[in-house]
Amino acid sequence: MFRISLDKEKCIGCGACSAVCPANFEMGEDGKAIVLKSPVEVLGCNKLAEENCPNRAITVEPSASPKEQSLKEQ
Ligand code: SF4
Repeated sequence: MFRISLDKEKCIGCGACSAVCPANFEMGEDGKAIVLKSPVEVLGCNKLAEENCPNRAITVEPSASPKEQSLKEQ
């Protein structure tokens, strides 16, 4: 699983993320990007969005799967 985070403070609304990864990024009415789904099972184009963000507002990081998480909690 991968956690996709977006720092709205850093987002300058350029639209690059939604252009390279429309499957998981959309531009909101406030002109800032929105992450549609997080965490995601498949990295897909999310890495591309992270790499193309001019202001490094997007962070993609591995996150424990729900199964791993529940094992840790036991
Ligand atoms: S690429 Fe970065 S700065 Fe541009 S809209 Fe997406 S999150 Fe905002």
